[in-house]
Amino acid sequence: CGIVGYIGTQDTTEILLKGLGKLEYRGYDSAGIAQLNDDGIHITKVKGRIAALREEVEKKEVRATMGIGHTRWATHGAPSYENAHPHQSASGRFTIVHNGVIENYEDVQREYLSDVDMKSETDTEIIVQLVENLYHELGDVQEAFRKAISLMKGSYAVGIIDQEDPNTIYVAKNKSPLLVGLGDGFNVVSSDSMAMLQVTDQFVELEDKEIVIVRREEVEIQKLDGTKVDREPFTAEIDE
Ligand code: GLU
Repeated sequence: CGIVGYIGTQDTTEILLKGLGKLEYRGYDSAGIAQLNDDGIHITKVKGRIAALREEVEKKEVRATMGIGHTRWATHGAPSYENAHPHQSASGRFTIVHNGVIENYEDVQREYLSDVDMKSETDTEIIVQLVENLYHELGDVQEAFRKAISLMKGSYAVGIIDQEDPNTIYVAKNKSPLLVGLGDGFNVVSSDSMAMLQVTDQFVELEDKEIVIVRREEVEIQKLDGTKVDREPFTAEIDE
């Protein structure tokens, strides 16, 4: 299982599908991508192989310069189309991919989301539903994202996109691998540098409980309290 993301100037379709292909070795039962362009959010997902995902994606011919992708190894909810990632919040505004296990998802659901109709059986969905609820309460997406992530117990590598903001991918990590890759006019996220060596060899390591605001021209690493973190990139070895 793994996640990838790209925000830049090139079309995302090949970059995301190739990236997911490089993560196949980690094992998975389903795969999906979300792409955001002027027409809105486009989600394509399958129970099954990346080759099957590619077929679905190619039928749609979406062109978009930002998007996120996922291979799922089911932990909560059987492998199925409904449980495959990406998942969306109730209004469809926020879209998530997640690797890992949210240990307290039932508590969070009971405490904060008792009136939300869940669309899947995953632990993941509560994160994206909570971001939307907290956004309505706090009026600021970054704050809602930080608050939602700080309520999570367990392991996560998370990417979230906001239909209203084509310029940002929100990222968070705890006890699941996740790197940010830096480019000229684009940036990427990936569970493994191998998946994104196709576009860059400059990567920044993330520590647990950090979040990252990823934009085309900059990445900003923050702690969960919002304080900024500076970290230099390293050069990943090309090893094909
Ligand atoms: N726990 C999540 C699920 O079952 C994510 C699994 C994964 O890491 O792929 O959907």
